[in-house]
Amino acid sequence: MPPAENQAVRCLRRGGLLALLLLAGTSPRLLAQNPCFEGSVDHRAGCGFGAPRWAGELTSLSANGLLGALTGGLIQHFRGGSFQDGFVRGALGGAIAYAGKRVAAEGFSGAGWIGRGVAAVGSSAVRNASESTPSFSHLTLPFGPLWLDIDTPEWAVGARVDPVALGWILYAVAENELEIDWSETLSDGAPVFLTRNRSLQLSGDSVHTAGVTNAGVVFLADVPAFGSSHARRQRAHERVHVLQEDQLSIMWTDPLAQWVLSRTPAPRGATSLLFVNLSTEILRTLGGAIPEHGDRPWELESIFLAR
Ligand SMILES: [Zn+2]
Repeated sequence: MPPAENQAVRCLRRGGLLALLLLAGTSPRLLAQNPCFEGSVDHRAGCGFGAPRWAGELTSLSANGLLGALTGGLIQHFRGGSFQDGFVRGALGGAIAYAGKRVAAEGFSGAGWIGRGVAAVGSSAVRNASESTPSFSHLTLPFGPLWLDIDTPEWAVGARVDPVALGWILYAVAENELEIDWSETLSDGAPVFLTRNRSLQLSGDSVHTAGVTNAGVVFLADVPAFGSSHARRQRAHERVHVLQEDQLSIMWTDPLAQWVLSRTPAPRGATSLLFVNLSTEILRTLGGAIPEHGDRPWELESIFLAR
């Protein structure tokens, strides 16, 4: 066990600094401090999977395609449109989201940024399929705690704030034992905060972890003793989680929240400035039904793509 294990930082401690964080809670994703992630095999040359690579890629592509297809088909159907149209166009959007994850897991500088943009275009296509609008007519792209809305016919651009992501960023800035990694932040297109030679510990949990992603904000344990190979995989692993959370918020939580907000007396001007990202809560809830960390589909995908 690495020596840093004994000096964990409670960087996500109970009673966080901001009320906004109450919306997000704590992440369900815990990683054991093993040389390889769960589900992978420790080879002499590094960590690998027993299954052939093509099988894993095909599984991820199929899962993302199916998620997009069902989202597009079912929502368009319930809105009075065509299940078939939503299904087909949703599948296309899901496939593009997979391509973005594939890119984000690569090691070159800017891979996370490019992959995040590509995946967001794919998830926007799913959302457009749900709403019976042309596939690329409205794009929702992440930009730190801001989300840009682009109407491509007129190339009109608007911006909304993600209060949950902003809360996590403000928390991290205020936490003395975390510091922003500008290089990684710019490369990933997502805020990345590091500990220095300390592992992370989640609120109310005795398990230590090397990485957590909440609402697209990444927290990493920068512990040299874990080794450069582990650090590379951990960073790629969290980049995939960022894209997964984008996917859920673009396809599900923001459209649902906007629908609910439009039916409340809340001033439309105020709610139109909000991007509602409850992806971390969704994954935490789903994680409760799948106790084994390595059995959760989103973990398997991250582990595989970052192997
Ligand atoms: Zn994970």
